[in-house]
Amino acid sequence: MSEKTLFEKIVDREIPADIVYEDDDVIAIRDINPQAPMHVLVCPKKPITMVSSAQPEDAALLGTLLLKAGEIATAEGYGDRFRLVVNNGAAVGQTVFHLHVHVLGGRSFTWPPG
Ligand code: AMP
Repeated sequence: MSEKTLFEKIVDREIPADIVYEDDDVIAIRDINPQAPMHVLVCPKKPITMVSSAQPEDAALLGTLLLKAGEIATAEGYGDRFRLVVNNGAAVGQTVFHLHVHVLGGRSFTWPPG
C-alpha cells in the first residue's frame, strides 16, 4: 500500500486543515501559505497524481472540481474575479502530487502568469 498523500491525510483527519467544503468526492481547504486573500485548494478525494495522469473515467470528477471551484469563489465573494491554477509536474511548480485546483482571488493578477 503506497503512503497516503497530504490531502488523503487531511481527508482522514490525520493532519489539520481549514476545510471550507467537503462532500463524498471533493475536499476544499485553505492553502497553508496563501498567495492571495482567497487561496483555496479544491482536491478530489481520489488520489489522482496530476491532470496528465487522470483517466477518461475521471472526466466527471474533473468537471466537478471546476464547478466546486466556481461555487467556492462565489461563496467567498469573488464569483466574477478569480483565477484557477493547476500545476502539472514538478518542473512547473507542483509540490503536492495529488491533483488540486488553486482558487485565488482578492488581488490583481498579471498575464501571462509567471
Ligand atoms: P502545488 O505547488 O501546486 O502542488 O500546490 C501545493 C499547495 O499546497 C501549496 O500552495 C502549499 O502551500 C499547499 N500546502 C502544503 N501543505 C499544506 C497543508 N498542510 N495545508 C494546506 N495547504 C498546504
